[in-house]
Amino acid sequence: MKAALEIWKFGGAALADEHGIRRAADQINAHRGPVVVVASALAGVTDLLLSATPAAADTFRAKHHAVARAIAKGSERDRLLSAIDAAATEYEDLCKALAMLGHVEARARDLLVSRGERLSSLLLAAAISTSKAKFVDAADVIATDAAYGNAAPELSACATRARRTLLPLLNRGVVPVVPGFIGRAPDGSVTTLGRGGTDLTATLIARSIGAKCVVFWKDVPGILTADPRLVADARVIPHLHHREASEVAHYGAKVLHPRALIPVAGTRITLRIRSFVDPSLPGTEVSARQSLKGYPVKALAILPEQAVVTVAGKGMVGVHGIAARTFGAVDAAGVSVSTIFQASSENSIGFTVPQAQADAAVASLRQAFRHELEHGLIDGVTARAPLAVIAVVGDGMVGTPGISARVFSALESGGINVVAIAQGSSERNISFVVSAADAPEAARRVHAAFQLSKIGGGRPVSKPHTDVVLLGYGRVGRALSDQIVSGTNDGVRIVGLLDRSGYLFNAKGLSRSRLRALAEAKDKGALLSALGGKKASAADALATISEHAVSRPVVVDVTSDETGSVLQAAVSRGFDVVLANKKPLAGSYDSYARLLDDAQSRGRRVRFEATVGAGLPIIDTYRKLDESGDRVLRIDGCVSGTLMYVLSEVSAGRRFSAAVREAVDRGYAEPDPRDDLSGRDAARKGLILARMIGYRGAAPVAHDLVPEAYRHLPLKEFLDRLEELDGAWKDKTETEAAKGAVLRYVVSATPRKVTAGLLAVPKTSPMGAAEGTRNIITFHSKRYKEPLVISGPGAGAEVTAAGLLNDICSLGSA
Ligand code: ADP
Ligand code: ASP
Ligand code: MG
Repeated sequence: MKAALEIWKFGGAALADEHGIRRAADQINAHRGPVVVVASALAGVTDLLLSATPAAADTFRAKHHAVARAIAKGSERDRLLSAIDAAATEYEDLCKALAMLGHVEARARDLLVSRGERLSSLLLAAAISTSKAKFVDAADVIATDAAYGNAAPELSACATRARRTLLPLLNRGVVPVVPGFIGRAPDGSVTTLGRGGTDLTATLIARSIGAKCVVFWKDVPGILTADPRLVADARVIPHLHHREASEVAHYGAKVLHPRALIPVAGTRITLRIRSFVDPSLPGTEVSARQSLKGYPVKALAILPEQAVVTVAGKGMVGVHGIAARTFGAVDAAGVSVSTIFQASSENSIGFTVPQAQADAAVASLRQAFRHELEHGLIDGVTARAPLAVIAVVGDGMVGTPGISARVFSALESGGINVVAIAQGSSERNISFVVSAADAPEAARRVHAAFQLSKIGGGRPVSKPHTDVVLLGYGRVGRALSDQIVSGTNDGVRIVGLLDRSGYLFNAKGLSRSRLRALAEAKDKGALLSALGGKKASAADALATISEHAVSRPVVVDVTSDETGSVLQAAVSRGFDVVLANKKPLAGSYDSYARLLDDAQSRGRRVRFEATVGAGLPIIDTYRKLDESGDRVLRIDGCVSGTLMYVLSEVSAGRRFSAAVREAVDRGYAEPDPRDDLSGRDAARKGLILARMIGYRGAAPVAHDLVPEAYRHLPLKEFLDRLEELDGAWKDKTETEAAKGAVLRYVVSATPRKVTAGLLAVPKTSPMGAAEGTRNIITFHSKRYKEPLVISGPGAGAEVTAAGLLNDICSLGSA
């Protein structure tokens, strides 16, 4: 049996450099059976050419020279090099001429940019072998209208030309290599089919010459359930119907040109989207059969940078022709509409257009409706941006009840506001509009709601991870990063670091060596913006990071700053939050409640085990008691390692001054020990515990162990004069010792009250018996009349980091 005719399209990403070209050529040479090859420009070349600067010519020349040198020798190589030089020089001349004009018209732009596909095809043909392959000019195959920049093909003219030029070659066993993306207008000038148009060239040729199969060789393993740059656990969809693929493409999934499916609709042509990197993978089949019945929804497409234009007014109700005039006016402005919404009350019509064209659409509409606007029949024409359209696509949605409910409850659980909704009457697509900032999170939630990461079985394209962004990279941050990269926590990686100056981000995770190097550089005082990072505010950095395919994103706050507003921004961008920093939780009640409520309404979680007692399971214990129906009445605690150290040493007979100095020397205390002795830090912890059990009142006034006269002395003078305090401490301790008691700094939290101060406790009680930097926390509850005691090391970077990691892992497994 004669092998079936196939069309093979190689995308720019596959043809990145000489290795890509070589590999494509090897694949073609190994193929048995007739094949037409359609090639995109080498990766990045189209963008380069569009920049229209004479400097681009040099890069263009160098890039293609490198390929020519690698794949050809002798006269063949000379021929290619001179073709490249000619193209580069022409390009340069054209750029100079256009620079004089001041702007580049679409027609001239098509001419400029057509060189990319021409050269890549020439090089690919040479790499296959000049005796086997032949370059065919696309202008001789693809006939289009004159809509430069986004031309539409003339199907019957394409069929005639393609048959005339390609069939004789195929009959002789030659492999025709055709540049994609380019066509010829009726007047003979060069046109292009719009960005990504090589896909359309391939399907046009397939239809024109009766090929049964078109293979798209890509950098991705197939059509995925969503854009992998946004949704980390996107999976290859084994099969899609033509109609479904068409919806996915129409709604901007970059994987296929929006009009690539038009020539094959209603035919028996099969498309296969396959991995250029690993041809053994099956990829995605797109054909005229139905499949995957268990998945009513198969894919999401996300159309970014959109605006919603609304024409609104009571006077529109029941008036004929408003819709027609609306779209007439938009069309006259040369703007194309992607999704239309109309409330059934008819008092507004809304539609989405590319954000860049919103102003033109609004101006044209205001002109068209100027009379109605003057007479108040129309209230206004407005545009809202930046927005994104997300389309939920699948043939199985037809007649399946409850799909939209699932979509919208997934959005609701994330607190995502839906700006507009449209459902095509075909029921194969539900589209909704959300703010650009919410789009990545919205896509992830809907993706999860339909379990799209399980489509077709097998492994997800990337393993699910918890992606950590560290806010701050001091002692605790580094200890945490060491614990994360030390290998035992497979599912956790650090993808970003933020400091005052900016941020560093790598969606695949920062490596251990990079993190170490950064720590060293930061120790020397460098800021992230100077260490290969980008300058940005924390909120902007989080926005950028959230737009990438982070999976289960968590912001970990290891600063000691007032980070409330940054954490708020993180929550609104879909991050969970883990804190060692107490300040955002120990400020005003309002800001505390806002953070937690916001998180809850968006389905995000805030964990803060490490704020009290470092890694000790204090908050966790409270949760468990609470979940089991117990009621916590009071929590008492010695929650400051430094104060425990100083006071236990003093009770053992040591001088106060000596104990404080030692606490500083051993690194337990802050550099200025008054930060600890003031009790402020302990009081913050007390407040966090109290709020956890329902306290809403003011922060406690901490009992300051530093007498008034010493509080504002310069640090050195304070340390020099510490001995002056020894006498009073000696007296106090001896008085208590006589009663069998010792002094401890105790925070006490109930739902009504919170205090922080010095307390005499029996020497034999758990608090009285504790020493060193130990923390001790006791829970009194309805069930635990005899208190439940938790005790252990309550300070230190290592144990704090362990507490953080525990919180991070608990988010991943929940
Ligand atoms: P080519 O150069 O082969 O034409 P493109 O860059 O045009 O490739 O398209 C492939 C890219 O499309 C992928 O790298 C991926 O980032 C993006 N993409 C967006 N949505 C999807 C999706 N649903 N499935 C696969 N890839 C997608
Ligand atoms: N090279 C063109 C582009 O980058 C066409 C294509 O790749 O399909 O848009
Ligand atoms: Mg493409």
